[in-house]
Amino acid sequence: MSEIELEYEKSLEEEVFWEGKVKELKEEFGNQLMILCHYYQRDSVFRLGDAVGDSLELAKRGAANKTAKYLVFCGAHFMAETQDMLASKDQIVMMPDLKAGCTLVNQIKLKQLEDAWGILTQFRKEQDIVPIAYVNSSADIKAFCGKHNGTICTSSSSNKIFQWAINQNKMIVFFPDEHIGRNAANSIEIPRENVFVWKRNVSGGTLTEEQIKRAQLILWSGSCRFHDKFTPELVKKLKKEHPDARVVVHSECCEETVAESDYYGSTSTILNCIADSEPESKWFIGTEYNMVERMKRENEGLRDVNCLAKSICSFMYKADLKKLYNVLVSIKEGTPINIVSVGDDVAIPARRALKKMLEITS
Ligand code: SF4
Repeated sequence: MSEIELEYEKSLEEEVFWEGKVKELKEEFGNQLMILCHYYQRDSVFRLGDAVGDSLELAKRGAANKTAKYLVFCGAHFMAETQDMLASKDQIVMMPDLKAGCTLVNQIKLKQLEDAWGILTQFRKEQDIVPIAYVNSSADIKAFCGKHNGTICTSSSSNKIFQWAINQNKMIVFFPDEHIGRNAANSIEIPRENVFVWKRNVSGGTLTEEQIKRAQLILWSGSCRFHDKFTPELVKKLKKEHPDARVVVHSECCEETVAESDYYGSTSTILNCIADSEPESKWFIGTEYNMVERMKRENEGLRDVNCLAKSICSFMYKADLKKLYNVLVSIKEGTPINIVSVGDDVAIPARRALKKMLEITS
């Protein structure tokens, strides 16, 4: 068992104790408090969520809540940033653990992006390029998009957002998840010969002038290491061993894995895929382990739901009931901790990019 798998087993017992304590405080705060939980949260935390969902869904729910002053976001740091940017001025966004980051966020720094942009704009006019950030990116990367007439996309809106850019004859620069971008490009049929990868770790990238001039899409070479575990070989092997089973994977998986699977898409697509399937059907799911285990339990006796591989997001796993309790205690004591607050210099352009996404997808 890996370290994170061992911790997973151990923590299941400890958390029973903290659940009661969190519940007590939660009751005390009433509608002043809203706990928002992403699907990838461990179950003990997830169960206490006033709202559950994917990152953007949650941010919208938090912002729509007019009574809650404290929004405690149990998810990754970039999600809490988005929540803060969409929340009203008097709402305070907090997290159980500020170190709950994301492997994708870590794969792009603003300076790297600015350097790449500088090279690309030597060969293409800025007004012909549209920067698009995957929602799994830090606020300053989203702000870059807002400053350069770009936008944001989620795993469920990537096709629509890409199509919007292509319809305007713009070259898309998409970051930081190569696979989300590749899968969207395949889906809306951007010719492969016009899609190139910007090698994030190579100074100056590796693209030639001819490639930059021809490109319709440039993909940043990032990926989620937890979704990289779902390999095409694994899907092939499981399908051979279980010919009656179907496979659905998240679109953060590589295109080869997607090609071997029966379905792919966002967390909502995965949830709907299983919910809409016939009773007694058998499934293997390729996304974060906590979400799959929950689906497995919810489908017990109805459908045979299995994980493709045990892949726990160690960032999302940082939030636990003890840390959640500490956050609530800090509110009670009048000294809130773990506040996530994005300054206006970043929030204003980032919000512009988010708003554009909402307009395009509405
Ligand atoms: S599963 Fe991957 S993409 Fe999702 S939050 Fe964790 S590290 Fe980021």
